[in-house]
Amino acid sequence: MTDGSDLPPLREVINTYGLRAEKSLGQNFLLDLNLTGRIARCPGSLKDETVLEIGPGPGGLTRAILAFEVSHLYAIEKDTRCLEPLKNVSDAFGGRLTVLNEDALEIDEASLLPEKAHIIANLPYNVATPLLIKWLKKRELFKSMTLMFQKEVADRIVAEPRTKAYGRLSILCQWLCTVSRQFDISPQAFTPPPKVTSTVVKLIPRETPAYPADLEILEKVVAAAFNQRRKMLRASLKSLGVKPEPLLEEAGIEPTRRAEELSVEEFCKLAEAYRKAQ
Ligand code: SAM
Repeated sequence: MTDGSDLPPLREVINTYGLRAEKSLGQNFLLDLNLTGRIARCPGSLKDETVLEIGPGPGGLTRAILAFEVSHLYAIEKDTRCLEPLKNVSDAFGGRLTVLNEDALEIDEASLLPEKAHIIANLPYNVATPLLIKWLKKRELFKSMTLMFQKEVADRIVAEPRTKAYGRLSILCQWLCTVSRQFDISPQAFTPPPKVTSTVVKLIPRETPAYPADLEILEKVVAAAFNQRRKMLRASLKSLGVKPEPLLEEAGIEPTRRAEELSVEEFCKLAEAYRKAQ
């Protein structure tokens, strides 16, 4: 059989290979097949597509992805204890799974992936945001990213202006991708249960960013504005080292407004004004 149907249940895999969850690796395993299937369905049809999974662990989500007839799944797992059980998953699916025992922060996705890929992952929470930022910067490699975060991080990714969660992550993600909250998963669904609710978010990289701006300059302007998010922009933007008022005027933004009131488009206008002023 090459459809994984002869694989043992995930709980048995965890016991056989002694996969006691390691906190330092952000290990909270998802063993509910309904949920792993639901996550793997988020990108849409995966038939003949290439997929990248980060942190397959005992392989629950991995099996769900493979069951959707992907052409190949590349999985990056740091924990050597998981390699043998994952080898069994690869054999059970006719070798359509390649597992690399590496740190996902270090890998070079461009040389690994043969074509544009979907990322699907129940991310280790301690490195989830740096991984997302890394992928945003090489977004041309990806068709979609279906990622599970702590709910609080997911809230920041999809946040609208004038909300507490709105900030640097919201602006960067929404500028470069269309973002949508998929669904929440309660702590009890995991082994062991984490302290917080998790949320699956889907990001689809845009062909071109939503508005013209230079990434580094935009990041600088957004950082300056949100480092003092309660202050008016005419004060918070002083840290850019130029007079804020002419920049704000050029961008058509009232100097008394605050960072969290500005739309992504307004931040891009501000970044363009700053670029021209340099
Ligand atoms: N995908 C599995 C599931 O849903 O049950 C496990 C998810 S668990 C939240 C995160 C996984 O990422 C663990 O298997 C952990 O060993 C792995 N991991 C942690 N840090 C990593 C890193 N820097 N690079 C690659 N894998 C990592």
